[in-house]
Amino acid sequence: MLNNPRLLADRRKLLHNTSNIVQQCQTTGIKVAGVTKSFCAHSVLAQAMVEAGVSELADSRLENLQALQSLPVPKMLLRLPQPSELAQVVQYANISLNSEVSTIRRLSREAKTQGKVHRIILMVELGDLREGLLPDDAPKVVSQIISLPGIELMGIGSNLTCLSGVLPTVDNMQQLVELALYLRQRYCLELPVISAGNSSCLYLVYDGKMPQGINHLRIGKAITLGREAAFGLRLPGLHDDVFTFQGEIIELKEKPTLPIGRIGSNTFGEKPAFVDRGRRARAIVAAGRQDIDPQSLLPVDEEVSVVGASSDHLVVELAAGERYRVGDELTFKVGYSTLLAGMTSRYVKKEIV
Ligand SMILES: *Cc1c(COP(=O)(O)O)cnc(C)c1O
Repeated sequence: MLNNPRLLADRRKLLHNTSNIVQQCQTTGIKVAGVTKSFCAHSVLAQAMVEAGVSELADSRLENLQALQSLPVPKMLLRLPQPSELAQVVQYANISLNSEVSTIRRLSREAKTQGKVHRIILMVELGDLREGLLPDDAPKVVSQIISLPGIELMGIGSNLTCLSGVLPTVDNMQQLVELALYLRQRYCLELPVISAGNSSCLYLVYDGKMPQGINHLRIGKAITLGREAAFGLRLPGLHDDVFTFQGEIIELKEKPTLPIGRIGSNTFGEKPAFVDRGRRARAIVAAGRQDIDPQSLLPVDEEVSVVGASSDHLVVELAAGERYRVGDELTFKVGYSTLLAGMTSRYVKKEIV
């Protein structure tokens, strides 16, 4: 049975990270939706998030929410719905994030057809320029959707740092709160939820600076990687090795560090630079960019360093080459893009420990 390469997930560590963050947020009145997309909503891990006290399970993909149906918390669709999938959105998601009035109207019709109430969070653009209405357009949109049958406007939300790297700050968070207060008053709405964002918001919570009124966050990365996402810093008391990647050495030789011959671009159109450091022990691990991102792998053995990867070959340098043999396994901590690639690659075996 083929066993390598593989991603190992530690259920206990994931549970610990989740409950730690849930508790930290709870002290300031913030509920946490557990985001499952980075591990393809693996049910054992999602179950651990539920045990740790998340208020919802959230994912960008309907296939994943469908797989989570049996777990006893509401399901939240993070990516704006595709107009072609609205029947499934109402069927599998209790809540969805939205910014298009036409889509919300169609969700209303679909909810009525299915005899359900579908809850929505209206996304507001705070500057990262991914999804959301410009704040000035929010009142008009709210007036267009508050009386739609089958739709419950449960709150407003925002998402930062994902595309352009714009950070959550006291100012832009406060702007979101003020918009919610204005909408509540102007339209006599309860609008109970202000869902400020993702893991990049956590630093404000941990620093005690998150403005009053923000009461919901959607957290994935910080749970799976043990780091907040604004500055990439370790969060106190969290594990940074919930997931580890293992691959098998298929070649181990001493080679020059400087390539031999005229250098053009590699397979990926990149022009790597090289420094001549003489001959070093180099190993090839049987994994590649279909499975991992070489810049998002941290060898557990400090004497190992990643050189690069092509589609199916991961090359590492070994400071102590004599300690390894062909057939040995190397273990790496993973960053976000290796976690995404590894969980999605059908060549990578997944193992829960
Ligand atoms: C992915 C996503 C999140 C979670 O982001 P993390 O950085 O993994 O915490 C939250 N909200 C939306 C809309 C997302 O797409």
